[in-house]
Amino acid sequence: MLLKTILVFLLAMVLLGMIGKALFPGAMSRGMKRITRRNPVCKACGRYVIGKTCDCGKKG
Ligand SMILES: [Zn+2]
Repeated sequence: MLLKTILVFLLAMVLLGMIGKALFPGAMSRGMKRITRRNPVCKACGRYVIGKTCDCGKKG
């Protein structure tokens, strides 16, 4: 059954992500820190600005 195959695949992916997080807890946060330092936060909506303008359309 195709649906069952997809479900098993998705479960495997989630499991892999959890195992990766458990094995390397610092890797994800370290990468996030680098991203947050490079991208300023939008003053209008508080999201990280990727590029020159925010997704909300306001300057900041
Ligand atoms: Zn914004």
